[in-house]
Amino acid sequence: MTILTVLQKRTGPILGRHPWVFSGALKNIPDGLTSGTPVELVDEAGNYLASGYFNSYSQIAVRLWGFEPGEEVNEDFFKKRIKQAFAIRENYLASKETDSYRLVYGENDFLPGLIVDKYAEYLSIQFHNPGIESWKKEIVAALNTVVKPKGIYERSDVKVRGLEGAEKQVGLLSGKVPERVLIKENGYKLYVDIIGGQKTGFFLDQRDKRAALQKYVKGKSVLNCFSYTGGFSVYALGGGAEKVVSVDSSEAALLLAEENMKLNKLSAKKCEFILADVKVYLADQVPGSYDIIILDPPAFVKDRHKVEEGLRGYKRINAAALTILPKSGILVSASCSAHVSLEQFRYTLSEAALQAKRSVQILETYTHGIDHPEAISFMEGEYLKCLFSIVS
Ligand code: SAH
Repeated sequence: MTILTVLQKRTGPILGRHPWVFSGALKNIPDGLTSGTPVELVDEAGNYLASGYFNSYSQIAVRLWGFEPGEEVNEDFFKKRIKQAFAIRENYLASKETDSYRLVYGENDFLPGLIVDKYAEYLSIQFHNPGIESWKKEIVAALNTVVKPKGIYERSDVKVRGLEGAEKQVGLLSGKVPERVLIKENGYKLYVDIIGGQKTGFFLDQRDKRAALQKYVKGKSVLNCFSYTGGFSVYALGGGAEKVVSVDSSEAALLLAEENMKLNKLSAKKCEFILADVKVYLADQVPGSYDIIILDPPAFVKDRHKVEEGLRGYKRINAAALTILPKSGILVSASCSAHVSLEQFRYTLSEAALQAKRSVQILETYTHGIDHPEAISFMEGEYLKCLFSIVS
């Protein structure tokens, strides 16, 4: 096992099990160490601190995945981690009504840089850096043993790979994957396009928010902005909304949204799909045209140096939505920017309320669901925030 020494003054976060160790925290890095090499970190007195893997291209030199000395890294190691993650989801989330969830959530499931989403009997997988990718064969074998999926498809076409020195990779890794996978979520049926859809195919992280929406929708008109394949729209109509309008800039997403409505036998007369830029669409709406507005945009802050610019984007769309909503209207507003904290997001919504001259009361605050556990010291991992508010 390769041993790396951590500068004494930099051991604190490692003892707190924060998963990222920056190169500046290491006393020295031996020449020729390749990405993915398992390492054990020790303090300057030689005491064991933690285990992880080295990543040569990244400023994050080591990502932690273990806290016991002498643990070997092989297929069994990955089986152990995957079993632990699988148990959380199967014990507390999966049911006859819900067969899809995030199975492995990177750092938070002690497998840094690895995302595995389970869509019914299929897996969609992302390797975020060359270090974790070097263990692909063992990880795929471990997934096949523990989860026994019908197919595993790789969607390592995320931007972060570029920063970590890796090319995009997509394709079948094992078994077969159909063009569309039929999943169940809280009793609803949804088509997921693992191969051609956005990210790993679907936004599983909004499951609990979609369910929470249902209590507000009976007899109401709902505007679902950034609808993607209509997750919130299906729940809204299923929950008794009078009308649901889905707006997105992706035609493929809207076509699937329409299919998803049909799949759940929801009335075609009550739904509309609009291919548009949400910012433009909102600017054209007259006050009072919708009772409920959902805003679930892509991350507006993708870079920690551009937080202000992104926050202005959130303020703008939220102010527009607040201007449209009638008295007692409901705003469901999400941010999936990891660089924006819940506090910052709430403050931005208060600025939007000021601009729209409305009173806003927060009714519910959400982050992720059970399938996105959060390692306690890894604040950076908490990317999703979603506030349900009533407007007057
Ligand atoms: N709410 C969805 C997930 C939304 S993901 C769900 O529950 O599944 C963000 C979506 O915003 C994507 O579908 C993307 O196509 C869309 N999008 C990005 N920029 C947009 C814009 N300016 N106007 C409209 N849609 C946009």
